Formats: sequence, C-alpha cells, structure tokens
Amino acid sequence: FAINMTQLELEEELGRGNYGTVKKVLHKPTNVYMAMKEIRLELDEAKLNAIIMELDILHRAASPEIVDFYGAFFIESCVYYCMEYMDAGSLDKLEVDGIPEDVLGRITGAMVRGLKFLKDDMQIIHRDVKPTNVLVNRKGEVKLCDFGVSGQLERSLAKTNIGCQSYMAPERIHGESQGNLGTYTVSSDVWSLGLAMIEMAFGHYPYPPETYANVFAQLQAIVHGDPPELPDEGFSDEARDFVARCLHKIPDMRATYAELLAHPFLEADRQREVDMVGWVAGAIERRNAKFRAQLEQAQQMHSS
Ligand code: ATP
Ligand code: MG
Repeated sequence: FAINMTQLELEEELGRGNYGTVKKVLHKPTNVYMAMKEIRLELDEAKLNAIIMELDILHRAASPEIVDFYGAFFIESCVYYCMEYMDAGSLDKLEVDGIPEDVLGRITGAMVRGLKFLKDDMQIIHRDVKPTNVLVNRKGEVKLCDFGVSGQLERSLAKTNIGCQSYMAPERIHGESQGNLGTYTVSSDVWSLGLAMIEMAFGHYPYPPETYANVFAQLQAIVHGDPPELPDEGFSDEARDFVARCLHKIPDMRATYAELLAHPFLEADRQREVDMVGWVAGAIERRNAKFRAQLEQAQQMHSS
C-alpha cells in the first residue's frame, strides 16, 4: 500500500536535524504509530519523483537491525518519509552519562550486523553512522536509520552539510577539501562506527567544538591528530582494541565487518546476558529528569 498525508494524524515532534523535522504520526488505516521525517528541498518534480523511486528500495531493507520503512511521498517541495517509530529515541540523548561496556557491546553488535547487512545484501554504504542515527526502543532493540539509499537525495542535501560534529573519516574530510567526493568506501563507515562508540562511552562527542578555534582546526585535528581511544577505566582491553581496529587513520588498516563480528569484544557480548530493557528504561528516566531540571532552571531564570 502507498502512504499519503490524509491517512496520517500528526502527533508530537520527535526531533530536528540539519535537514528537517521528525514527527510522531498515527497511520489511521492500520492504527500504527510511525515516525515521519520532513525534508524541505528546492527541487523540481522530476527530481522529487526520482527520490521517491530510489527510496522505494528501502522496502527490501528488512532486517532486525534496520528501522522499518513504510513509504515516502512528496507535497510541493517537501519529501515525507515514514519509518518505524522507535519509542526510546536516538542514542545521543540516552548516552549522556556514558554507556557501560556491556550495553555498548550490545549496541555495537547490532550496529555491525546492520552495517554488514546493508553492505552485503543491499550494496549500500551507510555514509552517516553516528549516535543520532542509532535508534532504540523499550524492547531493547537497536536499529540503524538514515543511510544513503538515494543518490539524488544525497546530492540535494550535500550542499547544505554544515554539521559541527563530524563523524567523517580522515580520508573523507581530506577528499572533500580537495573537491573529491569519491574517496568514500565501506571502511569510512568503520571509522564513524569507532567514533560513535567513543562518544557513547564518554557521553559526549570526542572532538568538542568549544576546544577548537574554528571548524577548520577541528577537522585538522581529526585528519592529523592521533585517533581517540576508549577510557582506561571501565573498559576492557578487548573493548579498547575493538575501537582501535575501527579508528585507524589508514582506511585499509581498519577491520572489516566480518573481522569485527569475530573480535573477542563481540564474542564476549554473545556470551553474556545484558538487561537492555532495564538499561533503556533507566536511561529514559535519567534523560527525562535532566530535561525537567533544565526546564525548571529556565523557569526560575525567567521569573527572577
Ligand atoms: P542530521 O540532520 O545531522 O542527520 P539527526 O539525525 O539528529 O541529525 P534527523 O534524522 O532529522 O536528524 O532526526 C532528528 C531526531 O529525531 C533524531 O535525533 C532522533 O532523536 C529523532 N528520530 C529520528 N527518527 C526517529 C524514529 N524513527 N523514531 C523515533 N525518533 C526518531
Ligand atoms: Mg538522523
């Protein structure tokens, strides 16, 4: 079936990114809650149609580690994209206190399996691996979203890419600065995976923008500096080695997905029980408490 706007009841906003807004919606014919992403694009109808057609292959991307795709349509110059609603949201908002090793192992295993599925079964390189694109639900499931499936969509968005938190691999930053966009290979995603793991372990992005004079200096640090490492405390040698295998400056030296799946860090993950449901519930609780505290502080500032 094809989804259209008249079937949807709009609910609250789930978040905003560089390119658009994500809202919770109810699909009335099926009574299913979905997440609807709105992307505003100044494109002609032919190009918008091309994007909708390209997104259609997402119907085949059915895997436990990939967010389900329900359909896409456009109205005027906005593309609307409906996907599985993940009721715990993205990991960037759940990681703020740092994610412990056993939970990080579960998340990493899901990410590697998802990325391997995309590459082997769909011939897709993700291109945007980062904590905001790793979604979680209260069942404790971890799934990837926002991978590069539509060439036309990627080209239309590329011009406006001005994020101050770059997960791009050094070779890709270097390539883009030379006007060369062809340096992206699957190992660039492996770098982003390693960086995402560091961020989740610490609870914050490892190249904080406020410590650099400008974006240029920050990107220089990624290209020329030593790669970041997991903290000594709280993480095993296996976990630290796993991340080091991802964050190699030379792309060919990075591990493949098959090697990562066979790594002792993920082997240990398969051997132990992890209470993901409990962790998600606790993380949501802490996220909400923090949000309430911020809200109170803002109200006090307002009233004083
Ligand atoms: P960027 O624009 O750089 O990709 P982003 O990934 O944060 O950043 P969006 O993809 O537009 O931007 O998503 C905005 C927010 O909406 C996310 O950070 C996430 O918290 C939330 N979100 C996205 N998809 C879903 C979903 N399927 N279920 C629940 N929440 C979602
Ligand atoms: Mg996203």
